[in-house]
Amino acid sequence: MAMRKAKNTLHAGLSPAEPLTVAVDALDGFGWGLIGASTIAREYMVDAIRRSGGRPLNVMSHDGARAAAFARDLDIADSCSDLDALLADRRICAVYISSTNTQHRHQVLAAAAAGKHVLCDKPLATRAADALKMVRACEKAGVVLAVNHHLRSSPVHQTMQRMIAAGEIGVVRSLMIVHAGYLRPVLQSWRVKDAAEGGIYLDLSVHDIDLATFLLEQAPVTVVALGAGVALGSNTVHDHAMYALKMSGGTFVQVHESFVTPDVESQVVALGSEGALIAAGTLAQRSTGTLTRRVNGRNESIPLRANDLYADTVEQFLDAIAGTGSPRATGRDGLAAIAGAEAVGRAAATGRAVAVKRHE
Ligand code: NDP
Repeated sequence: MAMRKAKNTLHAGLSPAEPLTVAVDALDGFGWGLIGASTIAREYMVDAIRRSGGRPLNVMSHDGARAAAFARDLDIADSCSDLDALLADRRICAVYISSTNTQHRHQVLAAAAAGKHVLCDKPLATRAADALKMVRACEKAGVVLAVNHHLRSSPVHQTMQRMIAAGEIGVVRSLMIVHAGYLRPVLQSWRVKDAAEGGIYLDLSVHDIDLATFLLEQAPVTVVALGAGVALGSNTVHDHAMYALKMSGGTFVQVHESFVTPDVESQVVALGSEGALIAAGTLAQRSTGTLTRRVNGRNESIPLRANDLYADTVEQFLDAIAGTGSPRATGRDGLAAIAGAEAVGRAAATGRAVAVKRHE
């Protein structure tokens, strides 16, 4: 298993008023608390934290028995059903939050108040106004807030971003994203049943809007959209959407998202004034997919190495805590993605073009 090279020092984050800097070795690994006994934590994030040299010390779930089973299965020493108990553990320097979307707000605020650095899964909150409060609370507490927009960690997307920034396909006029599949049965619960959780907009749209923002280095400005609950969702919880964004630099972005269309290979296609970049199969939890550059009618395959997307996100978060880098996606990036997704939801509900609010 690849281990992250330890930094000399890391802020233990015991008190926002008195940030403590300690040697990593003295901590015998960086102590983490897990908030939420979730599928993503079980399948990916516990491993990503360990690969990055961290030690998951405690897992909290609203259901103590599920927390205990999770801890046993994943070889974590402690489990609990009380958030305050987890946050009171002074060995825990950072928390990873992967509860349902509606829980993120109060859990991030509590973690910041306890002086813990926070890696929160997306969406950061269910409303942009809440996300802004969370960002400000973390800034005030002096803790790092990162959001698990792992698609930024893909070597394909990073290469696309660099090539676009270097003008390798000229001025990008349009970006098209197809992000669809059939939602796994194990995930057909709150995502498609509870309107407060935000349906497809707070699940996929936040990822895709964040990716478009990252690739183009432009912010979404206006949205038109169609959305519906066609199979798994309902009139109030959409599972299928198409929308178009006008970005701050003038690029048009067209997105198709669905929980109910199987056998789709994802596409991220940037169309420029001097060529195109075509990423296929990259919108996934593993580092998959290919990148092709098309110039003058010829396709050129760009060879890239795979990585562990989630471990990369964790490593960037740790670098930010150590003061040697910044998160792949900051709290403000997470906030901007929610503002965009809120506008998509409103545009789909009203059939009107909606301006994306800026939250400073
Ligand atoms: P899950 O449904 O697996 O878990 C979410 C929460 O639901 C858990 O924390 C737990 O709450 C509760 N829960 C889990 N299993 C059960 C059960 N059998 N019965 C009752 N309640 C249960 O969600 P996901 O792992 O899919 O998503 C968690 C978060 O991570 C979401 O915010 C999601 O948007 C995000 N996510 C991000 C991904 C990414 O790539 N960045 C990918 C997938 C998800 P508790 O422990 O608090 O009691």
